[in-house]
Amino acid sequence: MAHDSPSRSPLPCAIDAGVAAVGRAAGALSRFAHVGSGTTLPGRLVNLIDSGFLARRIARLEQGAVIVSGTNGKTTTASMLRSILRAEGLAVAANTSGANLAAGVVSAFLSPKQDAAVGVLEIDEGALPSLIREIRPRLLVLTNVFRDQLDRFPEPEGVASRLRIAAERLPADSILVANADDPLLWAYLEDLDPIGFSVIASPDSGADQRGAGGAGAPRLAADAEPESCLRCGAGLVFTRRTMAGLGSAHCDGCGWGSTVGRYVATLVSRAGIEASVLELCEELLTLPLGGIHNAYNAVAAVAAAVELGIAPHRAISALEAFHPRFGRAEELLFDDRHLWLALIKNPAGAGSVIRDVCTDRRVGAVVVAISDRDADGRDVSWIWDTEFERLVTLEAPLVAGGTRGADTAVRLKYAGRVPDVVQADPLAAVRAATRSCPPDGLVAVLGTYAAMLDIREALVGDRSTRAEDEVE
Ligand SMILES: [Zn+2]
Repeated sequence: MAHDSPSRSPLPCAIDAGVAAVGRAAGALSRFAHVGSGTTLPGRLVNLIDSGFLARRIARLEQGAVIVSGTNGKTTTASMLRSILRAEGLAVAANTSGANLAAGVVSAFLSPKQDAAVGVLEIDEGALPSLIREIRPRLLVLTNVFRDQLDRFPEPEGVASRLRIAAERLPADSILVANADDPLLWAYLEDLDPIGFSVIASPDSGADQRGAGGAGAPRLAADAEPESCLRCGAGLVFTRRTMAGLGSAHCDGCGWGSTVGRYVATLVSRAGIEASVLELCEELLTLPLGGIHNAYNAVAAVAAAVELGIAPHRAISALEAFHPRFGRAEELLFDDRHLWLALIKNPAGAGSVIRDVCTDRRVGAVVVAISDRDADGRDVSWIWDTEFERLVTLEAPLVAGGTRGADTAVRLKYAGRVPDVVQADPLAAVRAATRSCPPDGLVAVLGTYAAMLDIREALVGDRSTRAEDEVE
């Protein structure tokens, strides 16, 4: 991983240390005063007093920075890439997933430890075009573009065009890695020569291969995203569909066709929510996470790692020991029952999680917790495009929770089943599920970000999601 060694003059280092100390003090004060988690205030303050701080700190990373952006999968992909880099013995600087705007990224560099060799930053798709100029990453990973946070970005095309603008601003020698299975994203990027990644489900993997091998791939309401050709506006035809709007597509109107990426993960088998086996770079990878969406996260992380110079077999063996981040398929023990927590935030990702929950025989009760606090976006109308029709076919007790638990209950009722319990209080919702879950069963908790924070705080009395993602 050769990279230009930055100059280290003592004066800017001393100034940066001073600025960082002021920022950290502000963070401690805000936590003390219970103003917030203390994650982004320091960054906002540092930005105010020293706008060049972030660029200087990034320039000091010997191996440069990697940015991960896109609608879904940012946190897990970035986390997987960090695991691979750490297994190579590198100290990695990182921001927390909830702090992926400018202030949160700055906050990641306030730690007094300054020995990080490489940065892996998860950045919000809206903030990316401006931040990319400061960060000047060595490599940019773009995961996908789904309909998400309706109140911020109404159209996927708007998001794709922001990502395109950001990609155009990459330094000339930087590498662009993107999801070749996302026809919309790929059409926006293809003339920039990105390195693509794809996922293919083998026929006996047990994966839901709607439309595989046929032209008329059926679509569910859950996948109701615009699927028209960027060039001519005609409808796209899918010949392979893995999840939501992802797969291989072509346009009969103008002849445009998507491509299969240079890095391909073949899903060999899946075992419900807990694990899947992938073939990738001629190696077998047993991933301790189920779901097609995690196959995409894994192939994106491996593609980035290999492009950074890491041997494929080393990247893959690092991923076999991967521990999921908070709320991304995390397991906890509560009331002698195993809880499995999965974040949901839009129809595409939620559909993938629901399919995995429905194929896992251990699931003995389900909590769906939808909240509408700032971290989630106030608009929860996406639940009406989400495939709860499949979830309600599970013969397991169903609990609706979160600050929008009542709306969730109405949605589940229209999907075909009135939930057994509706309970806005997070602890009460989880307790209702564990009580009705068989002793050897598993409680699947599907929640939005804020709902998950509430549940986790109630369960372990600890609102801080993790310490590992801070600068190490
Ligand atoms: Zn066309």
